Amino acid sequence: MTMKLLSVASEIYPLIKTGGLADVVGALPAALAPQGVATRTLVPGYPSVLARLGKAKTLRRYDALFGEAAAVLAAQVEGLDLLVLDAPAFFAREGGPYGGPGGTDWSDNWRRFAALSRVAADIAEGGLKGWRPDIVHVHDWQAALTAAYMRFGPAHAVPRLVTIHNLAFQGRFGADIFPALGLPPEAWGVDGVEYYGGVGYLKAGLVSADAITTVSPTYAQEIRSPVHGMGLDGLINGRVDRLHGILNGVDTDIWNPAEDPLIARRFSGRALGARAANRRALEKAFGLDQDDAPLFVIVSRLTWQKGMDLMIEALDHLVGLGGKLALLGSGDHPLEGAFLAAADRHRGRIAARIGYDEPLSHLMQAGGDAILIPSRFEPCGLTQLYGLRYGCLPVVARVGGLADTVIDANEAAVSAGAATGIVFAPSDPLALHGAIGRAVALHRDRTAWQAMQRAAMRADVSWRQSAARYAALYRSLLAEAA
Ligand code: ADP
Repeated sequence: MTMKLLSVASEIYPLIKTGGLADVVGALPAALAPQGVATRTLVPGYPSVLARLGKAKTLRRYDALFGEAAAVLAAQVEGLDLLVLDAPAFFAREGGPYGGPGGTDWSDNWRRFAALSRVAADIAEGGLKGWRPDIVHVHDWQAALTAAYMRFGPAHAVPRLVTIHNLAFQGRFGADIFPALGLPPEAWGVDGVEYYGGVGYLKAGLVSADAITTVSPTYAQEIRSPVHGMGLDGLINGRVDRLHGILNGVDTDIWNPAEDPLIARRFSGRALGARAANRRALEKAFGLDQDDAPLFVIVSRLTWQKGMDLMIEALDHLVGLGGKLALLGSGDHPLEGAFLAAADRHRGRIAARIGYDEPLSHLMQAGGDAILIPSRFEPCGLTQLYGLRYGCLPVVARVGGLADTVIDANEAAVSAGAATGIVFAPSDPLALHGAIGRAVALHRDRTAWQAMQRAAMRADVSWRQSAARYAALYRSLLAEAA
C-alpha cells in the first residue's frame, strides 16, 4: 500500500536553495516513490516559489495565521507535488529565505517558521480536504516545531521524524515568544520547547519526534559528543535509541556527466579524455593559466564550518607546489575579501568568483582535478558526492559524511583500486597542507590518477540505498504507532 508522506522544509531545489538541504528535499520524493512512498512537500511561498507555480489550487485559507492572511496552495512543479504556504506578510520579501540582502536574519523568523510548522501540523490533523498524511517528515529547525505542535495537539498519534541537516542552526529565540506560539502551557519545560531559558525550535523537534535522523552515520555519532553536539549532545544521547544516520544521495539525473547540459563536453569513466574540454572552459571562465597543473576547485559557503579560513592559509602553499585553484562561493565578508586578495596576488594561479552560480558549479566539477573540502564538521556534504560522480577527486577532512563517502588514497586502497580521494585529519592547516601535497604528488602519475577517477565515478552516490532506509524507518514508525 502506498504510504502518504508530508515532508516539510524551508528550501526545495530547484525553486529555492541556499544549501544541501534544498537538494535533499528536492530529490527525496522521486527517490522514495519506488519504495511505495508518495510525498507531498510543504514549503514557504517565497517569490521564487510562487513564480514557478503556474496553475495552483487553493486548498485552505487562513484569515489570521499568526495574525496574517494565508493560504495553502497545491501545485505540481518539476515533478514535485508541492503544498505552498502562501503568506505574503511572511514570505513575499526581497532577499534570502532567512534574512535581508545584508545577510542579517529577519527579526520575525520565529513567527515565519512557527507559521510554517503550525500549518504542517494542521495538515497532519486532517486540515486539508481529501488528503491526510500517514507520516510527517520535517527538516531542520525551520520545520522542527511541527513535531511539537503535533505532539501537543490532535495529531499526536501521527508518526513524525525530524532530520538534522546541520546542528549548528537551531532556531533559538527569547522566552517571550512562547505565549504567541499557541502551544499549551505544558509544552514549556525541559521536555518541551524550553532551551537554556529561551525557546529552541530544533530542540523542541528533537524531544517531540518519534525518530531523529542525521544525514550521515558518522555525524550521528559525532553529535553525541560535546565537540559536535552544539549544546544538544546531552539530549541526543538521551534519545540515542531513536537516532539514525542515513546518508544523503544525489540526483543522478541532474548530476550526470554523460548528459549534463551545463558543461562544455559530456564524458564518462570510459572516456575521461573528454574532461579536458571542460578543464579548458573552466580555466577560461576563471581567467586561469591554461596548463596541465593540478587544478583544484572549491564550491562552498565561505564559513568557518567549511574550514575556509584554513584554506586561505594554504593558498600560497598550493601555488608553491604548482597547483591552481578556482573558487566559487559566498559567505563571510572577511573570507570573501581574503580569497579575492589571494587571486590578485596569484593571477592566473588562483581565481575567485564571489556569488552563487549553479551552472558554473557543474562546470567546476566537470573540469577540476580535485575538489577541496576542509570542513571542521560536515553533516553529510554534497559537493564531494558530485565530485565523485564527475571524477573531480574529493580532498576532504575526515569528519561527518565526508568520512563516510570518500576512500583515502593510502597505499592499500590505491593498489586495491578502491581509492576515490584524499582524506585528512585533523581539520587544521598542517594536515591540509599535507593533503594538498599528496594530491599534487598523486596527480603526477596520470595512470594512477585516472584509475582513481574511474573508481570515484563508479561509487554509488545515488539515493537508492538511502531511500530504502528512509522507507524502512517510516514503516517501522507506522508499525509502532498501529
Ligand atoms: P551546505 O548545505 O552545508 O552548504 P552541502 O555540501 O551539503 O553544504 O551542499 C551545498 C550545496 O550548495 C551543493 O549543492 C553545492 O554545489 C551548492 N553550492 C554551495 N555554494 C555554491 C555556490 N556559490 N554556487 C553554486 N552552488 C553552490
